[in-house]
Amino acid sequence: MKRSVDILKEVFGFDSFRRGQGDIIEKILKGQDVLGVMPTGAGKSLCYQIPALTLGGVTVVVSPLISLMKDQVDALLQNGVRAAALHSAMEWEEVRGILSSVRRGRIGLLYVAPERFENAPFRELFSTLDLRLFVIDEAHCVSQWGHDFRPSYLKLSAAVELLPRRPPVAAFTATATPEVRDDIVVRLNLKDPFVLTTGFDRENLFFQVEHPADKTAFLLDYVEKFSGSPGIVYCSTRRTVEKVCEELGKKGFPAVRYHAGLSEEERRTNQEAFIRDHRPIMVATNAFGMGIDKSNVRCVVHYNMPGSIDSYYQEAGRAGRDGSSAECVLLFAPKDIVTARFLIEQGEDAGSKQTAYRKLQSMIDYCNTGRCLRAHILNYFGETDVKNECAACGNCVSVTERRDITTEAQKILSCVYRMEERSGRQFGITLLIDVLRGSHNAQIRTLGFETISTWGLMKEYHRQEIREMINFLTADGYLKVSGEYPVLSFTDRTRPFLRNREKLLMRRHEPRKTRVTGARKEAGATADGELFGLLRGLRRELADAQNVPPYVVFADSVLHSICAAMPANGEEFLAIPGVGRTKLEKYGHRFLDLLNRWRAGRL
Ligand code: ADP
Ligand code: MG
Repeated sequence: MKRSVDILKEVFGFDSFRRGQGDIIEKILKGQDVLGVMPTGAGKSLCYQIPALTLGGVTVVVSPLISLMKDQVDALLQNGVRAAALHSAMEWEEVRGILSSVRRGRIGLLYVAPERFENAPFRELFSTLDLRLFVIDEAHCVSQWGHDFRPSYLKLSAAVELLPRRPPVAAFTATATPEVRDDIVVRLNLKDPFVLTTGFDRENLFFQVEHPADKTAFLLDYVEKFSGSPGIVYCSTRRTVEKVCEELGKKGFPAVRYHAGLSEEERRTNQEAFIRDHRPIMVATNAFGMGIDKSNVRCVVHYNMPGSIDSYYQEAGRAGRDGSSAECVLLFAPKDIVTARFLIEQGEDAGSKQTAYRKLQSMIDYCNTGRCLRAHILNYFGETDVKNECAACGNCVSVTERRDITTEAQKILSCVYRMEERSGRQFGITLLIDVLRGSHNAQIRTLGFETISTWGLMKEYHRQEIREMINFLTADGYLKVSGEYPVLSFTDRTRPFLRNREKLLMRRHEPRKTRVTGARKEAGATADGELFGLLRGLRRELADAQNVPPYVVFADSVLHSICAAMPANGEEFLAIPGVGRTKLEKYGHRFLDLLNRWRAGRL
């Protein structure tokens, strides 16, 4: 039997396993069921592809979306692995043809849509295959707790039980909540599975929040720095999509748009142009993304704040699926809160409104916190073992000064206390600011707030300035916002803070200009940017000729390694991580030729 690391090198071109891969492969080869819970981009596919190549016979992989299956099959074919997909749009004749190739040993990896298992003739054929491993990818689809429940997934365990000999069953997902995990084990009937969980964190993503005065100007500047790398700009409404796409177009950026108001034809064309890197900037509503597996997205910009961290992490998570660095930036403005509240009012029934508002508040807190953004997200998802600093988010690497607002915070919190003491009620942010600024409006007079000790304590501050501080206090847990008409109240942290007079530092919201992150450097804004651009051009040409997406030919990381290593012959080319035997034969000479001409100054 070939060693797994040798297959890793020869077929896929990688030198070492990533975290978890080696363990999972070993257990599968021993015949044990496994459940791998690893974040997107961690490398779940190799965990079953390598055993498939070792075990012989056929490995069947259930995958929920046609586009995912196609990408996987294309990528395997590129590496010289014989694979095929059976999706729901196929004619029965075609299905039979593929199954007969499987039976003749021509295809070792077969991707199948879950709906196939609802079909009795298919189940019958399935039970006659020499099945050595059964894989369920995106296994959270079996759980009603998950976000993409697919009833057909419930049929899978029965299909396995009917087999004359039960192969090991391996399930994979990026959804790490305990309910979903337990559900997967039960509903797929995994037998004494080896469960490996590496958590929610996407280590290659850089998170950042900006509060720009002019979002469009910020975006244009930002996109410029990514020089031609693929990116997605999410907007909360169709109208904003139109506006932003037009602005980008006017400045000559290759942007396309996507939202539910466009014809199906235009949506398809635009999506295709994006996936193939012909027009690498996608401006879209949240209607875009389901079933898209473009792995080389280098940045996801949220032009507006989404309604919850759940949505945010899912959308932002479309960056960097290839595991190379990528950035997720959220452009916040107070108006986004108004839009988000409006959408909740329109969309939710009374019962779920409360939950929706609570989720919205966590999202707002994310935008205002001075602490680690990654920790904020991971805590939200209930991950307990989280570091306080990550070194890869806007707040942790921030180069801006912080402002000491200890005194201001004491004034604000005392005022919240006095207002409640006087009236026996709680109030929202607007009235709190009015009282602090010593306003004389009717409500203040009626409630008698002109006579409390904190009235007018912050006369000399702008409304906006006070608002920012209150938002900061809320985000960092010194004040709580609750209710449909949000009111402020103390938290467990408030009294200790007032008692101990801890120092409180607030980060300023001016956009930073200086920092260049990994993703942006890799995007080509550096000295070898020109060569990188040429390599990217060649990759696109080769991909177009075969009618596959460019990232299937080579991941971005491969092009960067080529830039860095400048291989001069086949042997050196084979040493590039991500280049296996097949790709060396297919593409080696084209890339070596380009590099030769580049060295000779002939490009
Ligand atoms: P997931 O299914 O977990 O989201 P994939 O299986 O699609 O992730 O892998 C993401 C990327 O990581 C792919 O481009 C893959 O080639 C790359 N990759 C996987 N394993 C390794 C490894 N051991 N070394 C280097 N790159 C890897
Ligand atoms: Mg995957």
